[in-house]
Amino acid sequence: MPLRVICYGGACEIGGNKILIEDKDTKVLLDFGAGFSEGIEYFSAGIKPRTVNGAGDYFEFGLLPEIEGLYSEDALANTSIKYVRPEVDAVFVSHFHSDHTSRIEFVDPDIPVYCGETTKLIHEAYDTFGTSPLRAKKKLLTFRTGSKLKIGNLEVVPIHVDHSIPGAYGFLIFSSAGTIVYTGDFRFHGPQGSMTEQFLEEAVRTRPLALISEGTRVSTQDTRRQTSEADVVSMTCDVLESCKKFVFSSFRGNDIDRINSFYKACMRAQRTFVVSTKTAVLLEKLKRDSHLHVPEPAKDVEVYVRRKKSGKFDDRDYSVWERKYLDVGLTCEEIRKKQERLFLHLDIWNLPEIIDIKPEPGGAYIHSSSEAFNEEGEEEEEVVRNWVSHFGFSYNQIHASGHASAFEVEGLVRNISAQTVIPIHTDHPELFASFKNLKGKVVAPKKGEEIHVA
Ligand SMILES: [Zn+2]
Repeated sequence: MPLRVICYGGACEIGGNKILIEDKDTKVLLDFGAGFSEGIEYFSAGIKPRTVNGAGDYFEFGLLPEIEGLYSEDALANTSIKYVRPEVDAVFVSHFHSDHTSRIEFVDPDIPVYCGETTKLIHEAYDTFGTSPLRAKKKLLTFRTGSKLKIGNLEVVPIHVDHSIPGAYGFLIFSSAGTIVYTGDFRFHGPQGSMTEQFLEEAVRTRPLALISEGTRVSTQDTRRQTSEADVVSMTCDVLESCKKFVFSSFRGNDIDRINSFYKACMRAQRTFVVSTKTAVLLEKLKRDSHLHVPEPAKDVEVYVRRKKSGKFDDRDYSVWERKYLDVGLTCEEIRKKQERLFLHLDIWNLPEIIDIKPEPGGAYIHSSSEAFNEEGEEEEEVVRNWVSHFGFSYNQIHASGHASAFEVEGLVRNISAQTVIPIHTDHPELFASFKNLKGKVVAPKKGEEIHVA
């Protein structure tokens, strides 16, 4: 019986990784996320899939693969697909980004879901807000780097990598026919780049049959600058020191490296970093992970409490998890009073808070995520620029990518020297074939099509 790889997502697209590995009667899924532009032709302009219809609205447009024995009874309740007992043996989560996890919410709760211990802590924080795709999974099992997990005919060994969220892993999947290596998302230029080096060493040693490698930045033009987190600290520090007014930034609130970078920049520039209540909950959870160093809310960093409902900071206006910050957090008025001594993190959808804060003109905004790479991104950037200029602020782009450069991906693929290379999480799988001195063949995956690797 052959060893098969089927990519149900992440094939010729960035994000949406859904990779099924089949060895005889053993089936293992590596990630089960949503692509960034998946279903955009039906679900945009404010139209969203209805939660009441489970997976039904997704099946309608072919946005989820029809895999037998994968979905929960609830997810299939309003669909023509009949529920059957689990036939997929396990789902492995490489890291907690939504393009790798968000469709796990539809998976049968009886199927074991394996994730890193840090990922479980991040899940618990999101579960507090009711937004974790891993919620209600009866068998959420954890691993650390080097764990050996026996699943039917396969043995899966997670090895840590550096990425823009803690608890990121690649996997070595050992089968009777040979090994498959899956990189997950990775970079070498982050604070934990040595973890990715270690993953690479271990992967080379397995002399794999197949390598499934991400290639986010493999493109005809790599527009993402090779800025490191250390550069982010010094560039941010320059802005914080040269600007004598209010400074605020938007970035992915679960990017712990970025939070640490901004915290460090604030220490140097003698400002106080202010995070959202959600980020505060996440930091409190991650404090329990002895491998991570995170600032403590209401001690090392301040917490911003937005006005809600009555606008009077009444307990009843807030979720239970948020209430504890009412006493210790900063309100818009308190932010206004010490604006030149603070650096505030605001998610883009919370930009209207600036209306409440009423900062003096002449401040600075730091855009700390990827530069726009598609039309929606460009539209969003223009809106943010309008807000920033409306308040008389300067616009500064400071960001370190979560992904390795095209050159580094090429080096990794060449070093691992697999017989078959399957590019994933990239708009340009065809460019992998132009990598120099590759020994194996490159197979660009097509959505839902089997690739026989042995
Ligand atoms: Zn990622």
